Amino acid sequence: MSWFSEIELGPPVEVFALIKAYNEDNFEQKVNLSVGAYRTAEGKPWLLPVVKEASIKLVNDATLNKEYLPILGLESFSNAATNLLLGVDSPAIIEKRAFGVHSLSGTGSLRVGAEFLARVLGKKIFYYSKPTWENHILLFKNAGFEEGREYRYWDNNTRSLDFDGMIQDLRNAPTGSVIILHAVAHNPTGIDPTVEQWDQIANVVKERRLFPFFDCAYQGFASGDVAKDAYSVRRFASLGFEFFCAQSFAKNFGLYNERVGNLTVVVNNPSVIPAIKSHLTIIVRGMYSNPPAHGARIVEAVLRDPVMYEKWQDHIKTMSSRIIEMRKELRRSLEHLGTPGEWNHLTEHIGMFSYTGLTESQVERMIRNHHVYMLRSGRISMAGLNPSNVYYVAKSIHETIL
Ligand code: PMP
Repeated sequence: MSWFSEIELGPPVEVFALIKAYNEDNFEQKVNLSVGAYRTAEGKPWLLPVVKEASIKLVNDATLNKEYLPILGLESFSNAATNLLLGVDSPAIIEKRAFGVHSLSGTGSLRVGAEFLARVLGKKIFYYSKPTWENHILLFKNAGFEEGREYRYWDNNTRSLDFDGMIQDLRNAPTGSVIILHAVAHNPTGIDPTVEQWDQIANVVKERRLFPFFDCAYQGFASGDVAKDAYSVRRFASLGFEFFCAQSFAKNFGLYNERVGNLTVVVNNPSVIPAIKSHLTIIVRGMYSNPPAHGARIVEAVLRDPVMYEKWQDHIKTMSSRIIEMRKELRRSLEHLGTPGEWNHLTEHIGMFSYTGLTESQVERMIRNHHVYMLRSGRISMAGLNPSNVYYVAKSIHETIL
């Protein structure tokens, strides 16, 4: 009799299950549109040349070693990351009201922030967009939140933002609730609020005294411009909000498996920072003690060195423009085929993902009959498209819908 014999199988994590199924599929024209990872026009993962360059420099740097980092991580990295997010001229930075905690990619940064909010501030309710990146729910619950509630976001009829629904739901949120906001390139829908809408969201957050927790996984990756992609966060900072923001360097540096992230904390008075840091220290100590250094050293080196920084800017332009081009190409192909429905949303959405509007049974057919792997919600990753497979994908969508 095993201690474990009573345990039943847990539900699979959809995206990882799809990657496995795709890898095991022998069909020649198979396409993987499930995972949110960049692929080149040849369908290959891309090690950014500047990341390789920085990595080689680090390996050859005799002053570096593999000693433990402090519990809150590499401070030169978290400072550089915080500056990248808020902009060096941000009042929050000038007035020393912002700091960063180097953590384990976007997920780890969200988790550290959520643990703090639940365990130290006693927060109980969090709000997430309907739909959202599904890990938000698991992660906030595991961090100690009692209840997750949805706010409306996607309108399937118009294939755009249900802004009135969103505002109404936020207005009805109990004071003190934590609200998760996607800073840019909403996952999974690809639709973001406009500049005016962000101000209206800010008004409700202020009126209802909600706590904003931004999730910024795609800075620079969405438009190719790091300042433009940080608009929402910078706007909240300039309006004087206190907030958290989890930054991921998985996509914009292609450092998926190095787990490089930063939890940026913005407060309205520097005097509260030492106590916050002390509790964050206890939280991290109890979870993973301290973060790994290599990936963070790469990001820090690139952000600090003007020549490498320029190269990185070029890389994010390469990645974002290829994705934008694929959005256009998929739309063009569907319109060319005369596929029923409107496809303009594909080019209006931004970032890595779009909702196709395909139903769950249509997605099943896309996978079974056409070997095109995508989430059952109908989300596709544009990065999985390339000039050799985009027409095949369009034709598969066409045949599935007809
Ligand atoms: N938030 C969102 C919205 C994401 O799409 C992702 C990546 N899929 C993350 C956070 C975090 O990813 P990671 O932990 O790999 O940085």
